[in-house]
Amino acid sequence: MNDIIHLLPDAVANQIAAGEVVQRPASAVKELLENAVDAGARHIQLIIKDAGRTLIQVVDDGKGMSFNDARLCFERHATSKISCADDLFAIRTKGFRGEALASIAAIAQVELKTRRPEDETATRVVIEGSEIKEHGLTVAPEGTSIAVNNLFFNVPARRNFLKSDATEFANIEEEFNRVVLVHPDIAFTLYHNGKMVLQLPAGNLKQRITGVFGTAFNDRIFPIEQETNFMKIGGFLGKPEHAKKKRSEQYLFINHRFVKSSSLNFAIENAYTQLVPEGHHPPYFIYIEVNPATVDVNISPTKVEVKLQDDRLVFGFLNAAVKKAIGEFSLVPQLDFDYDKDLDPDNVPTGMPIKPPTVALDPSYNPFHSSGTSHHNSSGSGYSAPKRPSGMSQDWDSFLRDIHTTEVTPAPTSQPVQMQIVEEGTSDDPITAEAFLPIYKKYLIVRIKGQLMVIDLYRANERIIYESYITALKETPVVVQQSLFPETITLTAAQSELLNELKNEFKQLGYEIEPMSSTNFAINGTPVNEEIGDIQTLIEGIIDDYKSNRMNRMMETEKNLALCMARQRRSSLKPIVTLQEVNSFLQQLFSCLMPTISPSGKKIYEMAGEDYLQNLLK
Ligand code: ADP
Ligand code: MG
Repeated sequence: MNDIIHLLPDAVANQIAAGEVVQRPASAVKELLENAVDAGARHIQLIIKDAGRTLIQVVDDGKGMSFNDARLCFERHATSKISCADDLFAIRTKGFRGEALASIAAIAQVELKTRRPEDETATRVVIEGSEIKEHGLTVAPEGTSIAVNNLFFNVPARRNFLKSDATEFANIEEEFNRVVLVHPDIAFTLYHNGKMVLQLPAGNLKQRITGVFGTAFNDRIFPIEQETNFMKIGGFLGKPEHAKKKRSEQYLFINHRFVKSSSLNFAIENAYTQLVPEGHHPPYFIYIEVNPATVDVNISPTKVEVKLQDDRLVFGFLNAAVKKAIGEFSLVPQLDFDYDKDLDPDNVPTGMPIKPPTVALDPSYNPFHSSGTSHHNSSGSGYSAPKRPSGMSQDWDSFLRDIHTTEVTPAPTSQPVQMQIVEEGTSDDPITAEAFLPIYKKYLIVRIKGQLMVIDLYRANERIIYESYITALKETPVVVQQSLFPETITLTAAQSELLNELKNEFKQLGYEIEPMSSTNFAINGTPVNEEIGDIQTLIEGIIDDYKSNRMNRMMETEKNLALCMARQRRSSLKPIVTLQEVNSFLQQLFSCLMPTISPSGKKIYEMAGEDYLQNLLK
């Protein structure tokens, strides 16, 4: 019998490889942009027609190719970027597989024009379905232009798989963003169907982010910087109130490469727990640099997933760095009574510029002092040479210590911050509500400086008592009042086990609980001066809530218990009847670190401008 195995012709092999490399127009865009970056271009133009179906062209002013290279670059495994396997572990370029152009040329009609600065003439290569149609001299500017026409012209099945133009172009824009956000020093221009869509001049990272996402981002992000001997983190984080339901605007780069990692994403978002409403995701633009030898970018052809040698260390470091940045750039929002822009219902909450530092970091800090958010909003010179916030340390151990000491802790309740508002250019001026209107005992409308503020009292109370519980757990325990006739409660075996575990913490919060049997407990003391109500329901509610938070959100013990207790006790609010009581309540709220969002992640208040009221009356 005859042998039946034979080698596939190159064109077929390339087409198969193309299936992996080029799934859609956006994949070709990514490869061509990356090649232009690798070629050292200063300005890169991306020209798209029909969402990439008819044309994807990248024009760069990089180093160009020689006459022979212009032909060779379309061969499979043709690359100038690595030459041996060891090079794989020291990759500093975007590409290295030498597959992209071969794959693209297998499934499209490609025209390449290229000229090196040292050459007088340019080279033109036309290749269709892996077949060279032309290879000659031409006239062209320095650099390279690659035009990919009629993608999938010879693979109709793939062409039919393409989604609508809107979707395909959105994918292209996403790939474009992932490249331009790592190279703020390179100018980029994007055209679609003859129109210029985006023009990004070379600049620093902050300028690039606002160039892509709009100037509103100037006020929505704050820097993150951290460095140690094994890794470096830089970039910008979104302020919690700009978190969105969608996960768009989340960009993580490792060694200048866009990566997706659910564990690293968790490390970042976890630091925002209780600062953003549930189900909302903060924007971030984070750049991690590690030794290339510790990252394996080779595990997927599209190179979005990464494998890190020390995943857990990076996780911990990243999580700590984000927490620290949030602490350093204290996201205590300030009430802006001069705010008169259209209320934007998409922002949660509305119109609250962010204020520097926390009470924990700066005891003299006053959240109503509006003397400039400037140093937080200043456009940094890019993530590579950022200003190091004071108190930062290089070494890992002391960094962890730092995190611990700068962790967001509530203001000492005994010394509430004096409530003051400062108008532009005037001196400090005590702020007080001028009038108020309680609604259903649950809401309060107050007038401050002629503006109306609608407050959800339960949420506000949840915040106030949550922060006081955190203080009780970390510093000053609540005073216990011994019961003359202790009540007993009965729990399930699982609940009992948890309660035994948390006995000491409960004590800190003013509840002295003594096990009587494996599932019975005596309540020997409760917080002094507090009406507790049904203690069985209270403890059961707390234990159940605690358990689910621990499982689903991996919350730390103290925050978790304080949160559960605050949720149970939030409606135990003394009636607010006089203006004086309103002001003392406001004072308590605004001496909290996070007066805008309840620990459960709900908006506490809304400023109601005239527009808002008019809308209500429409
Ligand atoms: P890789 O980028 O993995 O090396 P490609 O198939 O993308 O593989 O490109 C093959 C080679 O062609 C590159 O290594 C590079 O030498 C050359 N090349 C591709 N695009 C350009 C460009 N825009 N300017 C200069 N050289 C380029
Ligand atoms: Mg490449």
